[in-house]
Amino acid sequence: MSEQHAPMNIAELGRGLEPSLRRALVRVASVETLLVACDYDGTLAPIVDDPAEARPQPRAMEVLGELAGTAGTWASLVSGRSLQQLIELSGPPATVGLVGSHGAEHLAPLGSNGRVGSDPAVASGDPGVSGHHDAESAALLEALIADVADEVSRLPGSRLEPKPVGVAFHYRQADQSVAAKTADALIERLSARPGVHVRVGKMVAEFAVDGADKGQALLRLIGQTGPDATVFVGDDVTDEDGFAVLGEGDLGIKVGAGETAASHRVASPADVVEVLSVLAQLRRAGAGIE
Ligand SMILES: [Mg+2]
Repeated sequence: MSEQHAPMNIAELGRGLEPSLRRALVRVASVETLLVACDYDGTLAPIVDDPAEARPQPRAMEVLGELAGTAGTWASLVSGRSLQQLIELSGPPATVGLVGSHGAEHLAPLGSNGRVGSDPAVASGDPGVSGHHDAESAALLEALIADVADEVSRLPGSRLEPKPVGVAFHYRQADQSVAAKTADALIERLSARPGVHVRVGKMVAEFAVDGADKGQALLRLIGQTGPDATVFVGDDVTDEDGFAVLGEGDLGIKVGAGETAASHRVASPADVVEVLSVLAQLRRAGAGIE
């Protein structure tokens, strides 16, 4: 663990990282305006058996706050969780933007230049919720919740998580030989319904009445902040939509194993904190370090 505010030798910063990742960090740290967007579960918070107990890695939120407090830098969480859960679990600094429900809910980031974006919901500080909440999608959501609840009642260890625009079926703690088949059958059945969007993650299948994805969420953040470069960090299948919208000067970092469109990879949430910490220090030091 690095000491918090020990005198640092700039040239030594990030020397413990993969050289190509360090070079990429030095590069993005040198741009005038930078957006740093991070997934939460499995990225800043280790995966735990009970999703309601997924707390951030030590220093994770503090470092994101440091980034958000640095000139020309915005930081945001981009999560599949509901905005309310995300706030409760992560305890984010007020300067950090929040995107929940894969982009269906959002609070724009506060940079050193103040809150960005002209969205009235954003400007007032209230969570903005996009998507349609008409009677039709409300009825569809109700039907989806009933279907998932039915499966949960038959599969011990599985859990239902209601969301503002969808419902998630969690099966991490269920008998895996049965759970995967149950999830597959549920996905097949519910995806056939018009208006249902399925997102599959690690030991979770989510059924939403809103087509938001992390790629759109990231593009929205980019539109709001207009950065010269964007860093996006994520660990799951749904984060691939985010990596897919990154451009040449951006930096995508995948956490853990699995196929990815990200250009770089780290092993764990602890590594993510190290990467963000190095980035924050490079950024504060004004970059220009080779
Ligand atoms: Mg994740």
